[in-house]
Amino acid sequence: MDRKTNIMKSILVTGGAGYIGSHVCYALKQQGYLPICFDNFSSGHRWAAKFGPIVEGDLLESQEIERTIEEYKPFSIIHLASFIQVGESVKNPAKYYENNIAGTINLLKAVQKYEIPYLVFSSSAAVYGTPEYTPIDENHPLKPINPYGHTKHITEIILQDWDKAYGLKSVSLRYFNAAGAFPEEGLGEAHEPETHLIPLMIRAAQHQKAIQIFGNDYDTADGTCVRDYIHVLDLANAHLKALDYLVTGGETVCLNLGTEIGVTNLQMVNLIEELFSTKVPYRFLSRREGDPSVLLSSALKAKELLNWQPKYKISDILQHAWQWHSKEIYGE
Ligand code: UDP
Repeated sequence: MDRKTNIMKSILVTGGAGYIGSHVCYALKQQGYLPICFDNFSSGHRWAAKFGPIVEGDLLESQEIERTIEEYKPFSIIHLASFIQVGESVKNPAKYYENNIAGTINLLKAVQKYEIPYLVFSSSAAVYGTPEYTPIDENHPLKPINPYGHTKHITEIILQDWDKAYGLKSVSLRYFNAAGAFPEEGLGEAHEPETHLIPLMIRAAQHQKAIQIFGNDYDTADGTCVRDYIHVLDLANAHLKALDYLVTGGETVCLNLGTEIGVTNLQMVNLIEELFSTKVPYRFLSRREGDPSVLLSSALKAKELLNWQPKYKISDILQHAWQWHSKEIYGE
């Protein structure tokens, strides 16, 4: 697509004030689009929503999303709004099914009413459940092991049915471990509560307070879990590529977004210690429920279909995250 012809074309980004959503809005603005940030601010931040109009709204209120689409007439939707905490989803599945599924249905009914042709959906590697082989490609069986993963899987199925019945073309992007930051733009990870490894490990190093590492008896090189960390700016860029793919006639598809490079939790300790000449205090705890030993993505299909590949290395991810957490520039 010639992006010059799309100057100020608006795109509705649900969850646009969140960690990934804010980076997506930045990337859209950079390319000349107008990102409309639709967020209920239950976990998003006002300081992160600064790249276009902001609509404080909730997908559970169908009039709010309809009104927004009617007003801004977006030519596409990027749908990231969802609850994301695995542990919470196990304890309170009703909250997850209501927000992630019922909210999505309200959005999709509005998409259908206003005949919006394209949607990019923020899915997750959680759709695969416990890996049967690695690297995980898109043909791997889909057997989520918690309600959060179920909501992502169910949404992918709903999107396939929406295509068959109403012609909505979509790309579901199955994120592996999003990490890193964009400190120059004042963007980075600020979850409350924070449960992710990299921010917690950096905080542990910066405040010399031990992090708990969940499990050291996994069947991996050093006994700790392996994850595939992908820079949030690489993820954001993939959303633009997915839009290009749809606009140029691409079929509805699900794609992994990962790097094919695995890092164990203990390797992460070493990387941080080497990069920042510091100590990461840690102690081992028992395994966290629902943690697969290895999550490693095949990145072939996204490369093939979107012409996308990650640009940032794990050292960049850590440098940017370190800078972001050092400044503590966020806060409302
Ligand atoms: N992890 C850990 N201690 C923490 C947080 C995470 O040992 O305080 C581990 C977790 O068990 C997993 C890896 O770090 O092996 C990545 O976890 P994270 O929550 O960042 O992402 P997930 O892979 O669960 O989406």
